[in-house]
Amino acid sequence: MFWERGFRDPHLVKRIIEKIREAAPKRDVVKICHVCGTHEWVISHYGIRSLLPETVDVVAGPGCPVCVTPAAEVDEAIEAALRGAVLACFGDVIRVPGSNMSPMEAKVKGAEVRVVYSVTDAVKMAEREPNKDFVFFAIGFETTAPSTAAEILKGSPRNLSFLVSHRLIPPVMELMLGIGDLQIDAFIAPGHVSTIIGLEPYEIFPKAYRMPTIIAGFEPVDVLLAIYMALKQIRDGRAALENEYNRAVRREGNVRAKDLMRRVFNVVGGSWRGIGRVPDSTLTLREEYAKYDAREKYGIKILSGRDVRPGCQCHLVIVGKIKPTECPLFMRACTPQKPVGPCMVGIEGTCRIWAVTRQQLSRGNRFEEG
Ligand code: SF4
Repeated sequence: MFWERGFRDPHLVKRIIEKIREAAPKRDVVKICHVCGTHEWVISHYGIRSLLPETVDVVAGPGCPVCVTPAAEVDEAIEAALRGAVLACFGDVIRVPGSNMSPMEAKVKGAEVRVVYSVTDAVKMAEREPNKDFVFFAIGFETTAPSTAAEILKGSPRNLSFLVSHRLIPPVMELMLGIGDLQIDAFIAPGHVSTIIGLEPYEIFPKAYRMPTIIAGFEPVDVLLAIYMALKQIRDGRAALENEYNRAVRREGNVRAKDLMRRVFNVVGGSWRGIGRVPDSTLTLREEYAKYDAREKYGIKILSGRDVRPGCQCHLVIVGKIKPTECPLFMRACTPQKPVGPCMVGIEGTCRIWAVTRQQLSRGNRFEEG
């Protein structure tokens, strides 16, 4: 059944849609930007955009960690593997394009690349095979960085090092407000990142930028409610931080997880694929953990790479400037089976989500994935 009970209750959904129609502007279009692959999945798979008035445009921002990892860092991971390390990475990372090849293509050339579900899998592998050197490609936002930090603090095996590529969401949200032609009217902030960081990092948006900001959960009702809350603020000329996902997100966030990150990582400026340099948005290992740093261990530091392949529009999709269907390669030269850009690779990538939704709809099976 399409809309189930509770957070998918069709009657509740209908009532919220009515409220959205009442609150939506009659003429001018408002742009609401979310920054989360899971939100995009919910919006696409439940057809939420088709339920909204034409004056409400919900766009996807840089909420896919695999999509925003710069080619130079993928190149570093591949380089470590080509120098003899076993590269341990998440399943979707294996196909993400670097400047010249993906980890999968490096594997074909003889590099040892293994898929893991978590950093703990990489630790177990390293413990089981003490004669091999492992590199864990640590990609992800504030949700995955604490588990990397926890393993490092526990004292990882000496044959495991980390290629840290973690990124932080609020700094990139702030940068997006400086992209003149984006003209965002409200943010929907990612629920799972918010369970870690709490409310405080978002306070800058309503205070300094007069930007309505709603933290939202991941059920259709959560997303619809967040859209309604944003529209109400826009209609009333207000800008506030509101927490729709208060059943999971506390004001202070996850204090222990934040402490783990603070103890292991420094926050520095860094590059995001398709976006460029974002101040205070990436994590590096603190000096006392330099022995776990794969870049130090293998003497690898690649400063720039080829982020965008010819014809690929990922740099525009990533910031919500265009929709995947506006890329000429979408579902022609670029498909989930044969991706060209990172947005078609990452399971949270907007192009991939749109493509999989289309494929499922064309097979008459709307909800087989996710
Ligand atoms: S359809 Fe493919 S090439 Fe086009 S923007 Fe998306 S990932 Fe990039």
